Amino acid sequence: MDGHAKNGYDLNKYTKVLSDNPAFPWVSKLNSSARQAMAERAWAAISRFFENCKNKVPFKKGFPRFRKLQNRASVEYKQSGWSLSQCRQYITFTDKFGIGTMKLRGTRDLNYYQLKQIKRVRIVRRVDGIYVQFCIDHERKEQLEPTGKSLALDLGLTHFYTDSDGNKVENPRLLRKSEKTLKKAQRRLSRCAKGSKNRAKARIRLGKKHLKLQHQRKDWCVKLALCVIMSADIVAYEDLQVRNMVRNHKLAKSISDAGWSIFTQWLEYFGKVYGRVVVAVPPAYTTIDCSNCGQQVHKTLTTRTHHCPHCSYTACRDWNASRNILNKGLELFRNTDGQSGIYYASGESDLCLYKATSTSKSSRRKRKIQQ
Ligand SMILES: [Zn+2]
Repeated sequence: MDGHAKNGYDLNKYTKVLSDNPAFPWVSKLNSSARQAMAERAWAAISRFFENCKNKVPFKKGFPRFRKLQNRASVEYKQSGWSLSQCRQYITFTDKFGIGTMKLRGTRDLNYYQLKQIKRVRIVRRVDGIYVQFCIDHERKEQLEPTGKSLALDLGLTHFYTDSDGNKVENPRLLRKSEKTLKKAQRRLSRCAKGSKNRAKARIRLGKKHLKLQHQRKDWCVKLALCVIMSADIVAYEDLQVRNMVRNHKLAKSISDAGWSIFTQWLEYFGKVYGRVVVAVPPAYTTIDCSNCGQQVHKTLTTRTHHCPHCSYTACRDWNASRNILNKGLELFRNTDGQSGIYYASGESDLCLYKATSTSKSSRRKRKIQQ
């Protein structure tokens, strides 16, 4: 904020200055690589903000925020400051904070990996306990028989997705199901006096309910994404700007509840693991166009069927959209097959993901809300 750090390297050096400063005794207690990891994360937030400003991202640019005390719930170590026991079931943190030795519970077997494959170790506090995350440098590749099929998904709210074969998957509406108990827990929390022990207990109870919902949603999305990847060689999906769509307050809750972003992230990931092609299609015109003749047929949100006056093709609105997405996705795939103009969404080189941007983001948003 005072403009001393011009890049990530400056920030890194500044952690050393802070650790020599007696006003911040906890900085010198922390392992030096963990300090650097903190600086890297801070710089990631700062540079993302500048990047958003430069690219003129509409609305909020994401000015970096300070973390609240109770949310200061994670510390990231690099390859020092911790050690695993011989059997790899205990982890010891060796810096001056005196965390000591913790037993690891869980289903993953760390003996499967080389010690030097573990690049980062992160301690995360969730409401139901303390977790240790291991960031492991390991390439996961699985073999799958080609199916000879291509599939496109139109993500929606009434149905979670409609694919280009006309199959529909119901939206689980997990939030709506547990909304009642969530609200009850929230009311209990707000009735407790501030700073009281009962309030702390109520906060944990509420937090656990939210955590359960998160787990349910993730579980559902992961399983579904795997099914989709298994069933087709090329998967195209609509690259929705969820961040902008959530600004529509009437739909925000339902959109957040649907978990489209989690789903598409896992789609990308499984595509990479199983060697399938995943194409993100820009959402423009997918609902308006007729998938049979290509003419534009305008419709409002309430029009559920697509009826084309030009070629008298009639289909469910979402099915029509997913057929358009399939056509666009295949076209994009063919155009980018020569490895030129490919945009890797996750920054990894072997990712089979092609992303194209045709319209400016603000106009895309407007169109989406109209649709
Ligand atoms: Zn038509």
